[in-house]
Amino acid sequence: MTSDQMPPTVDVTGTPAETFAPAETFAPGEPVDPAGRAAALDAADPLAAFRSEFVASDDVVAYLDGNSLGRPTKAAAAHLARFAADEWGARLIRGWDESWYELPLTLGDRIGQVVLGAAPGQTFVGESTTVILYKLVRAALDLPAVAGRDEIVVDAGNFPTDRYLLEGIAAERGKTLVWLDPASVAGVGPDDVAAVLSDRTALVLLSHVAYRSGYLTDAAEVTRLAHDAGALVLWDLCHSAGSVPLALDDWGVDLAAGCTYKYLGGGPGSPAFGYVRADLVDRLRQPIQGWMGADAPFEMGPSYTPHAGIRRFVSGTPMITSMLATGHMLDLVEAAGTEAIRAKSVLLTEHALDLVDELLVPRGVEVSTPRDAARRGSHVTIDHPDFQAVVAELWERGVIPDFRRPHGIRLGLSPLSTSFDEVRLGVEAIRDALVRGGSAG
Ligand SMILES: *Cc1c(COP(=O)(O)O)cnc(C)c1O
Repeated sequence: MTSDQMPPTVDVTGTPAETFAPAETFAPGEPVDPAGRAAALDAADPLAAFRSEFVASDDVVAYLDGNSLGRPTKAAAAHLARFAADEWGARLIRGWDESWYELPLTLGDRIGQVVLGAAPGQTFVGESTTVILYKLVRAALDLPAVAGRDEIVVDAGNFPTDRYLLEGIAAERGKTLVWLDPASVAGVGPDDVAAVLSDRTALVLLSHVAYRSGYLTDAAEVTRLAHDAGALVLWDLCHSAGSVPLALDDWGVDLAAGCTYKYLGGGPGSPAFGYVRADLVDRLRQPIQGWMGADAPFEMGPSYTPHAGIRRFVSGTPMITSMLATGHMLDLVEAAGTEAIRAKSVLLTEHALDLVDELLVPRGVEVSTPRDAARRGSHVTIDHPDFQAVVAELWERGVIPDFRRPHGIRLGLSPLSTSFDEVRLGVEAIRDALVRGGSAG
């Protein structure tokens, strides 16, 4: 499709789109072929027009990895193309005074407002998620209310960086890690956390949506339980920011961090955000005390005093060029509304599971994602012993899910850029690859 054939661009200043009424799309039990069903779902999709806001890639049949690296928005691509000449080249060092110096906080506030349910002054954009998690964990452990406690609760299914960091910090600070080990599909729920909380617990660090299984935990309830035990909670929001509605202020969350390159369209290596609850901001001291988070950065003074407010969580010079794209995705997320995004996400994962049940389960594929939509994020994980070879073949054919050891495929369904038909093409391609591999049966 050339750009002049594209549907009209969405009005990003409009009111949030309405949610679907999927049950009315076709009668229950009525046999509809997968292509017809996908077409009906696409036709009924109130967010369908948003797809034309993303850069199209000609050789891609189905992009099912938006949970690892989101597609670029056209607005971001245009901004990146003109940035060197119009902003860096034209404004030169004056750009710092004009907007760049404040960008970690202005972009942070916008992420807070559009996706986190966070009032201004609590969110910053900094380094990678890994580094921000380090800063927040270290700062949290020194808070007098928990400093005498020696345990950190984490789950064995958490993303490697979260686990590795905590191993290092525990060794550094003389803390003990308390490992939760949920069954692979069932994630860590409130009961699992309640069972290990005690007056020794300093901090609970969990992922809101599990990176492998897609399990979506009850963050509000886990936060409440941790607080009842006198502990702090830090949420890793990498797989929920931009796909699942969040209400950090309402939930009373202490700390959070998350990626911008997954559902927030920031691009490869775009820096992560951190959230610190308002009343904790000035009571915490983060360990990477650089000049950009100091009280008076341009005084070049002899020693460090943290800046008042959320700026104290900034360390060095912010990564301006890597921060440009995220704002454009936030415009789309805001226009669509997080509730409508979640409604489409649920339908996309349900559509994927229906196709998996029909086309792949009979060929020995197992579903490794919760069946209950209320407990599922925006990706579906399936397992089969042949999937490593299958994924290599799919990538050659322009069908792009991702592979997760030992033999899992994640179908990441990014609600604003993924169509129902793309999901259908992807699942059919997996079936075809399994058949070619001789594994039918
Ligand atoms: C993707 C992801 C990360 C990535 O961390 P980086 O420092 O950006 O590489 C961290 N945690 C979780 C849960 C993730 O899914």
